[in-house]
Amino acid sequence: MTDDTPPPSGPDLTLGIGVADLVDGKIVGHVGEDQVLVVKTDTDVFAIDAQCSHYHGPLGEGIVVGTSVRCPWHHACFDLRSGEAVRAPALSPLTCWKVSQRDGRIFVTGKQDKPAPQTMAVSKPSGEAPQKIVIVGAGAAGFAAAEMLRRCGYKNSIVMLGREGSLPVDRPNLSKDYLAGSAPEDWLPLRPDDYYADNDIELRRDAEVIGLSVKTHEIMIAGDKNLKYDRLLLATGAEPVRLSVPGADQPNVHTLRSLADCQAIIDGIKGARRALVIGASFIGLEVAASLRARSVEVHVVAPEQTPMERVLGPQMGAFVRALHEEHGVIFHLQDTVTAIEGGRATLKSGASLDVDIVIVGIGVRPRLALAEKAGLTVDRGVMVDSYLETSARGIYAAGDIARWPDAYSGESIRVEHWVVAERQGQTAAKNMLGLRERFDAVPFFWSQHYDVPINYVGHAEQWDEIALEGDISSKDCLLRYKRKGRTMAVASIFRDLENLQAELAMETELEKIRK
Ligand code: FAD
Repeated sequence: MTDDTPPPSGPDLTLGIGVADLVDGKIVGHVGEDQVLVVKTDTDVFAIDAQCSHYHGPLGEGIVVGTSVRCPWHHACFDLRSGEAVRAPALSPLTCWKVSQRDGRIFVTGKQDKPAPQTMAVSKPSGEAPQKIVIVGAGAAGFAAAEMLRRCGYKNSIVMLGREGSLPVDRPNLSKDYLAGSAPEDWLPLRPDDYYADNDIELRRDAEVIGLSVKTHEIMIAGDKNLKYDRLLLATGAEPVRLSVPGADQPNVHTLRSLADCQAIIDGIKGARRALVIGASFIGLEVAASLRARSVEVHVVAPEQTPMERVLGPQMGAFVRALHEEHGVIFHLQDTVTAIEGGRATLKSGASLDVDIVIVGIGVRPRLALAEKAGLTVDRGVMVDSYLETSARGIYAAGDIARWPDAYSGESIRVEHWVVAERQGQTAAKNMLGLRERFDAVPFFWSQHYDVPINYVGHAEQWDEIALEGDISSKDCLLRYKRKGRTMAVASIFRDLENLQAELAMETELEKIRK
């Protein structure tokens, strides 16, 4: 424990707790300096580390579903029996603790002897395991797939190709703490360098895949030999849309997708006084917040009347705008940039702004070229079935490129969410081994602006009603986006428990739809 680590809270679990001490069947206490969550179900008592292995979210404030606990922050889920991270975004297991019961009291007596398992308890795959699995993409979906293949006990070859140069990184952090200067670079890799060799995953960080032959089961790599595969996962993510105005190719104009992009922005703001962010959606506004944390003056230019209105609706959009204005961001809405010349940006309205750096956040396009050229079915995304298999047998797609049949909405949808990409990577991994797992996770994403997190579960491209609970301006609210009376999605601020409950309600409804 360092001087600034808070002392452990809650009861000393080695001294025992009464069942009456549990609230909703759970309590967080400590064993020495470790925080431990005790959960009592109808049949068992479990004890597990109290913090999520993703961002250290407080599991005691989450929900218990069967024999699992879900984190309130980003909806990771852990098996209480084994500690295994059964739902992304957590990938690492938690430690389980030994429990004994005496005289109606529960005691936690120490860590379980066996380390939490690294392999998910999965049913036996059908047929022979493929000899070689190739993953194109070393981002959220690609990494989660490789990790899950090894967790499932797959022993044969895994090759993962990316072209960003870096190790797979925690991409959401690139517009948040890392850009704001409050997270060190060593927080970013999803796993350290030696993880790949230790797990026999051949990671090629600078491999540009330029073609794919469905017929010969090969991929073509720029400047390298073709690579054969038995199963292939396409997880190429999305590309920032470039600005197409005069001056958009100047060196002080940036987009943000990779670690290198982020580092270029950090270099670019050294000594900068004023930044122009083009686009008022998630990435643009997260960048605005991070640059304000570095005391850079930020102007945001965007065509819409209210930021984020299309996704979150007008009330939440107005709140987001006010929040950024409170932090000093200056909006130029219903306007666009028509030219950038050196340090001067000209707007359609006729105004001009002197700026040192420009960050363009005007959306992304899924990288579909490989799939299209190879003749896979593509329609605003790579079309996959419920098992994430594309129109070509043995080729799967996951993450930002995949359009899948969403059973809850009855529509085929494509989203750009970190958690969805990871969970799809995991499901695709199991299906490449023949496990036939449907992808039916309810989509979830979060966004962070200063100290305000917005959690969103479900998917509502359109709605006819927004039911508001609580008060948005007091940062204590939950909005239900409804279509014909049915909740399609829920967004919330500091109502994490209710957000989890909304996810569970959608899952329950989904089960009924399936029956
Ligand atoms: P990616 O993670 O982009 O990975 C794609 C991989 O494919 C990369 O390794 C790339 O190098 C590789 N690749 C592409 N083409 C080729 C090729 N031809 N050859 C070889 N390799 C190739 N989502 C949230 O839910 N919450 C957030 O807060 C959030 N914040 C974000 C912040 C930023 C700055 C960004 C950029 C995105 C954020 N997202 C967030 C979105 C989230 O990161 C994406 O949805 C997720 O990364 C998609 O995963 P993916 O695996 O499909 O693609």
